[in-house]
Amino acid sequence: MHPRDLAIGAAFAGAIALIAWRARALTPSGAVAAFAVGALTYASGTLGFTLVLLAFFVPSVGLSRFGRARKRELVDIGKHGARDALQVLANGGVATVCAVAWAFTHDPRWAFAFAGAYAAATADTWATEIGTLAKRQPRSILTLRPVATGLSGGITLPGTLAEFAGAFWIGVMGTVGIVLAYVLGSFDFGWSFSQAPTVVTAPVLALFAVPVAGIAGATLDSVLGATAQELRHCDACDRTCETDPHVCGNRTRRVRGLPGISNDVVNLLATAAGAAVAAGILNALFG
Ligand SMILES: [Zn+2]
Repeated sequence: MHPRDLAIGAAFAGAIALIAWRARALTPSGAVAAFAVGALTYASGTLGFTLVLLAFFVPSVGLSRFGRARKRELVDIGKHGARDALQVLANGGVATVCAVAWAFTHDPRWAFAFAGAYAAATADTWATEIGTLAKRQPRSILTLRPVATGLSGGITLPGTLAEFAGAFWIGVMGTVGIVLAYVLGSFDFGWSFSQAPTVVTAPVLALFAVPVAGIAGATLDSVLGATAQELRHCDACDRTCETDPHVCGNRTRRVRGLPGISNDVVNLLATAAGAAVAAGILNALFG
């Protein structure tokens, strides 16, 4: 990690975080977290890694604005609106740790893990944003019984197609990022591998491994959303929800799931799974 890259990253991430905060895509704490994520990502992997971060961030802001009026009606979810620090770190925290680990080791497995984490975050975000606009009611990923629109663990056909598209999109941008990092001289393919991946095999493998990692992570997100994640009930409104207090201001009680397993915790686990799958595929073939 070069001090010059950290300075460039800080300036760049600061500008983006400020714009996103002004546009109400981020809360003040969310803007601080996004600044840290952006600065460390650029410092660790310069343009190649930053391209992957922006490929996650820009469409997710755009999609959350798409169909806003309908999403605003989904008052039980509490997932819409500006992202706070916990939401930013739940989606970008694992990837940022992987980026920093890559900067200090130059082990390509960390670069694959970085892209795999964002593939999972992107696949889940696209599935949620498109899925909540679907006309047909979502069904539980486990029981296939109908569930309320927007609640975790529910899947729709448009949402699932969007999930695959999001994972593939990061696969493409991750591949471009790896080639860019190689051209810029910061991607070392030779790191202690018995059969070193090359400038040809590494991008081809990324194009396969990163989308697979994204779909695996987003699927885990849905399964945990249908099982371990807290499902709560507001007795005042007689509505199922995921927040405490409810948007009406009344306290809610847990009716399913494990205490403390919020949507943010599930997102964190899903991105960790995406990172592990992408790095694991590279390791299985070249480790
Ligand atoms: Zn309520």
